[in-house]
Amino acid sequence: MKLLITGGAGFIGSNFIRLMLKKYPTYKIVNLDKLTYAGNLENLKDIKGQRNYTFVKGDICDLKLAQKLVSGADAVINFAAATHVDRSIQDAGDFIKSNIQGTYTLLEAARKSKIQRFLQISTDEVYGSVEKGRSKENDSLFPNSPYSASKAAADHLVRAYGVTYKLPVMITRSSNNFGPYQYPEKVIPLFITNLLEGKKVPLYGDGLNKRDWLFVLDNCRAIDAVLHKGKTGEIYNIGAGREIPNIDLTKKILKLSAMPESRIQYVPDRPGHDRRYALNVNKLRNLGWRQEFSFSNALKLTIEWYKNNPHWWKRLKKPSS
Ligand code: NAD
Repeated sequence: MKLLITGGAGFIGSNFIRLMLKKYPTYKIVNLDKLTYAGNLENLKDIKGQRNYTFVKGDICDLKLAQKLVSGADAVINFAAATHVDRSIQDAGDFIKSNIQGTYTLLEAARKSKIQRFLQISTDEVYGSVEKGRSKENDSLFPNSPYSASKAAADHLVRAYGVTYKLPVMITRSSNNFGPYQYPEKVIPLFITNLLEGKKVPLYGDGLNKRDWLFVLDNCRAIDAVLHKGKTGEIYNIGAGREIPNIDLTKKILKLSAMPESRIQYVPDRPGHDRRYALNVNKLRNLGWRQEFSFSNALKLTIEWYKNNPHWWKRLKKPSS
């Protein structure tokens, strides 16, 4: 199979490319990435030069380039996006361009080629805050941030291209990921690296917001399952099925880092901060996927990785964060 992976120099995309090349050594992978502040070729330096891997620097909004690359692929997996909610609140421009216009451009390119799969990588944030129960794939979308609204718009476009043009589309919506190579502005690597730098950890609001934390490799294995066994036109939630309040997450990171709770600094909540996300993942389980990493082991492994790779994260951190 020839895969066009967009946004493969980012956190999840780079972990996914590494997994694919290991599991399917005969596959050919092209990675199209604009290398925004979040894209980093160091994430893939161990596979640089491998014969079945090619990197192309470029924007998914560039139709000519997208057409050229899509026409040579059997499947497109679109990870490329602007992803940090706080940045989307400051300025949504890049989110509208990359997440909506970019997805539209890839869909247009795919419509004119003969691809077998168009897999859109989306997020549980499109469902909005879920007070009770668990979101199912056909629930209505109530995104609350410019980021999640742009991802929801892209999901609608992908689905519509499947219905209107019979494009073989699928969508995955995963919960919050963590693990190696995550940009240190996101909460888990921010807290781990702040502690390594002797700083406090800024916890939003009352710390009772709940997230279903998923280890990145479990998400990548789920995306692999959907790519190979998923049904055209379907949406698949991806989550670990556990709910962890931010305060518990913070205390666990402190404990594993052997740091006191006095390192917590409560800061005003993010505007529009969703209280709870929770996913029903039965559909994914029916594809045979099971989570491999327990939360504790995955968190330990992640802390170790940041401890052992200061050269990777130090230059990415602003002096003020
Ligand atoms: P990331 O910010 O680490 O990486 C995004 C990558 O996309 C970067 O390499 C960046 O350079 C690239 N990119 C951005 N705009 C581009 C453009 N216009 N053209 C080409 N490349 C572009 O993000 P991530 O955390 O790896 O997330 C990957 C995908 O998974 C995103 O679509 C995100 O919405 C989704 N997702 C992430 C999480 C999470 O917890 N990280 C959870 C659910 C879904």
